[in-house]
Amino acid sequence: MAELHSIVVPMYNEESVVDVFVRRAVEAFAPLPDWELIVVDDGSSDRTYELLRAHAGSDPRIKIVKFARNFGHQIAITAGIDLAGGDTVTVIDADLQDPPELIPALVDEWRNGADIVFAVRDSRAGESWLKKATASWFYRVLRALGDVDAPLDAGDFRLMSRRATEALRGMREQNRYMRGMVGWVGLNRAYVTYARDARYAGTTKYPLAKMVRLAANGLVSFSTRPLQIATFLGVAAAALGLCVGLWAIGERLLGNPNLVPGWASLMVAVLFVGGMQLFTLGIIGEYIGRIYDEVRQRPLYLIEEVTGFSGRIAEHFARSPMPDEQEG
Ligand code: UDP
Ligand code: MG
Repeated sequence: MAELHSIVVPMYNEESVVDVFVRRAVEAFAPLPDWELIVVDDGSSDRTYELLRAHAGSDPRIKIVKFARNFGHQIAITAGIDLAGGDTVTVIDADLQDPPELIPALVDEWRNGADIVFAVRDSRAGESWLKKATASWFYRVLRALGDVDAPLDAGDFRLMSRRATEALRGMREQNRYMRGMVGWVGLNRAYVTYARDARYAGTTKYPLAKMVRLAANGLVSFSTRPLQIATFLGVAAAALGLCVGLWAIGERLLGNPNLVPGWASLMVAVLFVGGMQLFTLGIIGEYIGRIYDEVRQRPLYLIEEVTGFSGRIAEHFARSPMPDEQEG
Protein backbone atom coordinates (compact mmCIF):
# COMPACT_ATOMS: atom_id res chain seq x y z
CA MET A 1 0.00 0.00 0.00
CA ALA A 2 1.22 3.49 -0.79
CA GLU A 3 2.35 5.74 2.01
CA LEU A 4 -0.35 7.98 3.44
CA HIS A 5 0.74 11.24 5.03
CA SER A 6 -1.61 13.13 7.34
CA ILE A 7 -1.24 16.85 7.82
CA VAL A 8 -3.06 18.39 10.78
CA VAL A 9 -3.93 22.09 10.87
CA PRO A 10 -5.70 23.88 13.74
CA MET A 11 -7.70 26.95 12.68
CA TYR A 12 -9.36 29.54 14.83
CA ASN A 13 -10.91 32.50 13.03
CA GLU A 14 -8.60 32.18 10.06
CA GLU A 15 -11.01 33.22 7.26
CA SER A 16 -8.35 35.47 5.76
CA VAL A 17 -5.86 32.63 5.27
CA VAL A 18 -8.02 29.55 4.57
CA ASP A 19 -7.99 29.78 0.77
CA VAL A 20 -4.31 30.64 0.41
CA PHE A 21 -3.33 27.98 2.90
CA VAL A 22 -5.28 25.25 1.14
CA ARG A 23 -3.99 26.27 -2.27
CA ARG A 24 -0.37 26.37 -1.14
CA ALA A 25 -0.72 23.15 0.83
CA VAL A 26 -2.24 21.19 -2.05
CA GLU A 27 0.58 22.34 -4.33
CA ALA A 28 3.24 21.61 -1.75
CA PHE A 29 1.96 18.07 -1.15
CA ALA A 30 2.16 17.11 -4.83
CA PRO A 31 5.43 15.14 -4.32
CA LEU A 32 3.80 12.98 -1.61
CA PRO A 33 2.41 9.60 -2.75
CA ASP A 34 -0.88 10.10 -0.91
CA TRP A 35 -1.98 12.55 1.73
CA GLU A 36 -4.91 13.78 3.80
CA LEU A 37 -5.31 17.28 5.18
CA ILE A 38 -7.20 17.33 8.47
CA VAL A 39 -8.30 20.80 9.46
CA VAL A 40 -9.63 21.27 12.96
CA ASP A 41 -11.93 24.26 13.20
CA ASP A 42 -11.48 25.28 16.82
CA GLY A 43 -14.86 26.96 17.28
CA SER A 44 -14.30 29.81 14.83
CA SER A 45 -16.93 32.55 14.83
CA ASP A 46 -16.06 33.86 11.38
CA ARG A 47 -16.41 32.22 7.95
CA THR A 48 -13.56 29.75 8.44
CA TYR A 49 -15.81 26.68 8.57
CA GLU A 50 -17.89 27.69 5.57
CA LEU A 51 -14.76 28.20 3.46
CA LEU A 52 -13.31 24.90 4.64
CA ARG A 53 -16.44 22.99 3.71
CA ALA A 54 -16.22 24.26 0.18
CA HIS A 55 -12.68 22.92 -0.07
CA ALA A 56 -13.65 19.56 1.42
CA GLY A 57 -16.49 19.35 -1.09
CA SER A 58 -14.14 19.67 -4.02
CA ASP A 59 -11.22 17.57 -2.78
CA PRO A 60 -11.82 14.26 -0.98
CA ARG A 61 -8.34 14.46 0.58
CA ILE A 62 -9.44 17.44 2.66
CA LYS A 63 -11.22 16.58 5.90
CA ILE A 64 -12.70 18.84 8.50
CA VAL A 65 -13.40 18.48 12.18
CA LYS A 66 -15.64 21.10 13.73
CA PHE A 67 -15.32 21.61 17.47
CA ALA A 68 -18.38 22.49 19.51
CA ARG A 69 -16.54 25.57 20.83
CA ASN A 70 -13.06 27.02 21.13
CA PHE A 71 -10.94 24.49 23.01
CA GLY A 72 -7.54 25.98 22.24
CA HIS A 73 -4.62 25.29 19.96
CA GLN A 74 -3.07 22.36 21.83
CA ILE A 75 -6.39 20.52 22.08
CA ALA A 76 -7.14 21.14 18.41
CA ILE A 77 -3.82 19.55 17.49
CA THR A 78 -4.69 16.61 19.73
CA ALA A 79 -7.99 16.00 17.94
CA GLY A 80 -6.29 16.11 14.56
CA ILE A 81 -3.70 13.58 15.68
CA ASP A 82 -6.43 11.35 17.13
CA LEU A 83 -8.30 11.21 13.84
CA ALA A 84 -5.33 11.03 11.49
CA GLY A 85 -4.91 7.74 9.67
CA GLY A 86 -1.55 8.29 8.00
CA ASP A 87 1.81 6.60 8.30
CA THR A 88 3.05 10.00 9.39
CA VAL A 89 1.27 12.93 11.01
CA THR A 90 2.59 16.45 10.56
CA VAL A 91 1.25 19.38 12.56
CA ILE A 92 1.42 22.82 11.00
CA ASP A 93 -0.09 26.26 11.76
CA ALA A 94 -2.62 27.71 9.36
CA ASP A 95 -1.16 31.20 9.09
CA LEU A 96 1.66 30.19 6.71
CA GLN A 97 4.32 31.17 9.22
CA ASP A 98 5.45 27.60 8.77
CA PRO A 99 5.83 26.81 5.08
CA PRO A 100 3.87 23.71 3.93
CA GLU A 101 6.53 23.35 1.21
CA LEU A 102 8.86 22.01 3.92
CA ILE A 103 6.72 18.93 4.55
CA PRO A 104 8.20 16.72 1.79
CA ALA A 105 11.62 17.38 3.35
CA LEU A 106 10.27 16.24 6.73
CA VAL A 107 8.89 13.12 5.07
CA ASP A 108 12.33 12.38 3.59
CA GLU A 109 13.82 12.36 7.08
CA TRP A 110 11.09 9.95 8.16
CA ARG A 111 11.97 7.68 5.24
CA ASN A 112 15.52 7.75 6.56
CA GLY A 113 14.25 6.26 9.80
CA ALA A 114 13.31 9.21 12.02
CA ASP A 115 10.22 8.96 14.25
CA ILE A 116 9.99 12.63 15.05
CA VAL A 117 11.20 15.25 12.63
CA PHE A 118 11.36 18.70 14.19
CA ALA A 119 11.14 21.76 12.00
CA VAL A 120 13.46 24.14 13.79
CA ARG A 121 13.21 27.85 13.00
CA ASP A 122 16.49 29.57 12.38
CA SER A 123 14.86 32.97 12.00
CA ARG A 124 11.48 34.49 12.76
CA ALA A 125 10.23 37.28 10.55
CA GLY A 126 7.42 39.60 11.47
CA GLU A 127 7.17 38.80 15.14
CA SER A 128 7.60 41.40 17.83
CA TRP A 129 10.91 41.41 19.68
CA LEU A 130 8.88 40.88 22.84
CA LYS A 131 7.43 37.63 21.51
CA LYS A 132 10.81 36.40 20.30
CA ALA A 133 12.50 37.36 23.55
CA THR A 134 9.85 35.77 25.78
CA ALA A 135 9.78 32.65 23.61
CA SER A 136 13.52 32.16 23.69
CA TRP A 137 13.66 32.95 27.40
CA PHE A 138 10.81 30.55 28.13
CA TYR A 139 12.38 27.64 26.24
CA ARG A 140 15.59 28.13 28.15
CA VAL A 141 13.91 28.30 31.58
CA LEU A 142 11.89 25.22 30.75
CA ARG A 143 14.98 23.38 29.70
CA ALA A 144 16.77 24.37 32.91
CA LEU A 145 13.89 23.57 35.26
CA GLY A 146 11.80 21.02 33.49
CA ASP A 147 12.22 17.47 32.43
CA VAL A 148 11.34 18.39 28.87
CA ASP A 149 13.57 17.02 26.22
CA ALA A 150 12.58 19.25 23.32
CA PRO A 151 14.86 21.19 21.00
CA LEU A 152 15.07 24.93 21.53
CA ASP A 153 13.20 27.06 19.01
CA ALA A 154 10.99 24.28 17.70
CA GLY A 155 7.29 25.08 17.76
CA ASP A 156 4.50 22.66 17.04
CA PHE A 157 5.56 22.22 13.41
CA ARG A 158 6.81 18.63 13.26
CA LEU A 159 6.28 15.25 11.68
CA MET A 160 5.62 12.14 13.74
CA SER A 161 5.74 8.49 12.77
CA ARG A 162 2.91 6.10 13.48
CA ARG A 163 4.45 4.75 16.65
CA ALA A 164 5.09 8.27 17.95
CA THR A 165 1.46 9.29 17.30
CA GLU A 166 0.23 6.07 18.91
CA ALA A 167 2.16 7.04 22.03
CA LEU A 168 0.68 10.54 22.01
CA ARG A 169 -2.85 9.21 21.59
CA GLY A 170 -2.41 7.37 24.85
CA MET A 171 -1.58 10.57 26.74
CA ARG A 172 -4.92 12.06 27.72
CA GLU A 173 -3.89 14.78 30.17
CA GLN A 174 -6.05 17.89 30.21
CA ASN A 175 -3.31 20.45 30.60
CA ARG A 176 -1.47 19.81 27.44
CA TYR A 177 1.87 21.05 26.36
CA MET A 178 2.42 19.08 23.18
CA ARG A 179 6.04 20.07 22.74
CA GLY A 180 6.90 18.58 26.09
CA MET A 181 4.78 15.50 25.48
CA VAL A 182 6.53 14.82 22.19
CA GLY A 183 9.87 15.22 23.96
CA TRP A 184 8.73 12.67 26.54
CA VAL A 185 8.09 10.10 23.82
CA GLY A 186 11.76 10.06 22.77
CA LEU A 187 12.44 7.73 19.81
CA ASN A 188 14.62 8.68 16.83
CA ARG A 189 14.78 12.34 16.04
CA ALA A 190 15.78 14.41 13.07
CA TYR A 191 15.83 18.15 12.49
CA VAL A 192 15.12 20.28 9.47
CA THR A 193 15.74 24.00 9.76
CA TYR A 194 13.72 26.72 8.08
CA ALA A 195 13.18 30.45 8.15
CA ARG A 196 9.91 31.38 9.80
CA ASP A 197 7.77 33.80 7.82
CA ALA A 198 5.49 36.50 9.09
CA ARG A 199 1.82 35.66 9.49
CA TYR A 200 0.17 35.77 6.06
CA ALA A 201 -2.95 37.64 7.17
CA GLY A 202 -5.12 38.23 10.18
CA THR A 203 -3.87 38.70 13.72
CA THR A 204 -2.33 36.35 16.22
CA LYS A 205 -4.77 34.02 17.96
CA TYR A 206 -2.33 33.81 20.85
CA PRO A 207 -2.89 36.83 23.06
CA LEU A 208 -0.62 37.23 26.07
CA ALA A 209 -3.05 35.45 28.42
CA LYS A 210 -3.08 32.29 26.29
CA MET A 211 0.70 32.38 26.01
CA VAL A 212 1.10 32.67 29.77
CA ARG A 213 -1.23 29.73 30.24
CA LEU A 214 0.70 27.62 27.75
CA ALA A 215 3.96 28.54 29.46
CA ALA A 216 2.55 27.67 32.89
CA ASN A 217 1.28 24.33 31.57
CA GLY A 218 4.68 23.61 30.11
CA LEU A 219 6.41 24.32 33.37
CA VAL A 220 3.97 22.68 35.77
CA SER A 221 3.27 19.61 33.62
CA PHE A 222 6.89 18.82 33.09
CA SER A 223 8.59 19.84 36.29
CA THR A 224 8.01 19.55 39.99
CA ARG A 225 10.99 21.82 40.56
CA PRO A 226 8.76 24.81 41.46
CA LEU A 227 7.48 22.79 44.42
CA GLN A 228 11.04 22.40 45.58
CA ILE A 229 11.51 26.15 45.32
CA ALA A 230 8.90 26.38 48.06
CA THR A 231 11.06 24.22 50.30
CA PHE A 232 14.18 26.24 49.57
CA LEU A 233 12.40 29.48 50.29
CA GLY A 234 11.11 28.11 53.57
CA VAL A 235 14.59 27.07 54.64
CA ALA A 236 16.01 30.44 53.56
CA ALA A 237 13.34 32.30 55.52
CA ALA A 238 13.96 30.23 58.61
CA ALA A 239 17.71 30.79 58.37
CA LEU A 240 17.24 34.52 57.95
CA GLY A 241 14.87 34.58 60.92
CA LEU A 242 17.45 32.77 63.01
CA CYS A 243 20.18 35.26 62.06
CA VAL A 244 17.98 38.23 62.88
CA GLY A 245 17.10 36.62 66.20
CA LEU A 246 20.74 36.01 67.11
CA TRP A 247 21.59 39.56 66.15
CA ALA A 248 18.79 40.91 68.36
CA ILE A 249 19.97 38.82 71.32
CA GLY A 250 23.54 39.98 70.74
CA GLU A 251 22.53 43.62 70.72
CA ARG A 252 20.56 43.07 73.90
CA LEU A 253 23.44 41.34 75.73
CA LEU A 254 25.91 44.01 74.63
CA GLY A 255 23.51 46.52 76.10
CA ASN A 256 23.33 48.72 73.04
CA PRO A 257 21.70 51.92 74.35
CA ASN A 258 20.17 52.80 70.98
CA LEU A 259 18.14 49.61 70.86
CA VAL A 260 14.64 50.70 69.91
CA PRO A 261 11.72 48.41 70.52
CA GLY A 262 12.19 46.06 67.62
CA TRP A 263 9.26 46.83 65.36
CA ALA A 264 11.47 47.06 62.30
CA SER A 265 12.85 43.58 62.59
CA LEU A 266 9.41 42.30 63.48
CA MET A 267 7.89 43.87 60.43
CA VAL A 268 10.63 42.54 58.22
CA ALA A 269 10.17 39.06 59.57
CA VAL A 270 6.38 39.15 59.30
CA LEU A 271 6.36 40.53 55.78
CA PHE A 272 9.11 38.25 54.61
CA VAL A 273 7.56 35.10 55.95
CA GLY A 274 4.04 36.18 54.94
CA GLY A 275 5.09 36.91 51.39
CA MET A 276 6.92 33.67 51.13
CA GLN A 277 3.91 31.74 52.35
CA LEU A 278 1.62 33.33 49.80
CA PHE A 279 4.12 32.69 47.06
CA THR A 280 4.53 29.04 47.90
CA LEU A 281 0.79 28.61 48.38
CA GLY A 282 0.38 30.01 44.89
CA ILE A 283 2.80 27.48 43.47
CA ILE A 284 1.03 24.65 45.25
CA GLY A 285 -2.28 26.03 43.98
CA GLU A 286 -1.07 25.80 40.39
CA TYR A 287 -0.49 22.10 40.85
CA ILE A 288 -3.71 21.44 42.77
CA GLY A 289 -5.76 23.22 40.09
CA ARG A 290 -4.29 20.96 37.48
CA ILE A 291 -4.83 17.85 39.59
CA TYR A 292 -8.49 18.90 39.87
CA ASP A 293 -8.69 19.26 36.09
CA GLU A 294 -7.26 15.80 35.62
CA VAL A 295 -9.38 13.91 38.16
CA ARG A 296 -12.63 15.03 36.54
CA GLN A 297 -11.63 12.97 33.52
CA ARG A 298 -13.67 14.98 31.08
CA PRO A 299 -13.20 14.36 27.39
CA LEU A 300 -10.57 16.70 26.00
CA TYR A 301 -12.89 18.10 23.35
CA LEU A 302 -16.33 17.78 21.81
CA ILE A 303 -16.73 17.42 18.08
CA GLU A 304 -19.86 18.92 16.61
CA GLU A 305 -19.44 17.46 13.16
CA VAL A 306 -16.93 15.99 10.76
CA THR A 307 -16.76 16.39 6.98
CA GLY A 308 -14.88 14.34 4.43
CA PHE A 309 -14.05 11.36 6.64
CA SER A 310 -15.06 7.90 5.56
CA GLY A 311 -15.37 4.50 7.24
CA ARG A 312 -15.37 4.10 10.97
CA ILE A 313 -14.93 7.74 11.88
CA ALA A 314 -17.72 8.97 9.58
CA GLU A 315 -20.09 6.29 10.85
CA HIS A 316 -19.30 7.04 14.45
CA PHE A 317 -20.08 10.73 14.11
CA ALA A 318 -23.18 10.14 11.98
CA ARG A 319 -24.71 8.02 14.75
CA SER A 320 -24.10 10.32 17.69
CA PRO A 321 -23.37 13.93 16.88
CA MET A 322 -21.35 14.74 20.01
CA PRO A 323 -19.59 11.68 21.36
CA ASP A 324 -16.42 11.94 23.33
CA GLU A 325 -13.23 11.49 21.47
CA GLN A 326 -12.01 8.28 23.04
CA GLU A 327 -13.65 5.93 20.58
CA GLY A 328 -13.30 8.31 17.62
N1 UDP B 1 -5.32 28.38 17.06
C1 UDP B 1 -6.35 27.51 17.42
N2 UDP B 1 -7.07 27.76 18.56
C2 UDP B 1 -6.79 28.85 19.36
C3 UDP B 1 -5.70 29.70 19.00
C4 UDP B 1 -5.00 29.44 17.85
O1 UDP B 1 -6.63 26.53 16.72
O2 UDP B 1 -7.49 29.02 20.37
C5 UDP B 1 -4.54 28.10 15.82
C6 UDP B 1 -4.44 29.25 14.84
O3 UDP B 1 -5.53 29.29 13.97
C7 UDP B 1 -3.13 28.94 14.13
C8 UDP B 1 -2.31 28.27 15.22
O4 UDP B 1 -3.22 27.82 16.21
O5 UDP B 1 -3.30 28.03 13.07
C9 UDP B 1 -1.28 29.18 15.83
O6 UDP B 1 -1.88 30.39 16.22
P1 UDP B 1 -1.23 31.81 15.90
O7 UDP B 1 -0.55 31.78 14.57
O8 UDP B 1 -2.29 32.85 16.08
O9 UDP B 1 -0.16 31.91 17.06
P2 UDP B 1 1.27 32.64 16.99
O10 UDP B 1 1.96 32.15 15.74
O11 UDP B 1 0.95 34.09 16.93
O12 UDP B 1 1.94 32.20 18.24
MG1 MG C 1 1.26 32.25 13.91
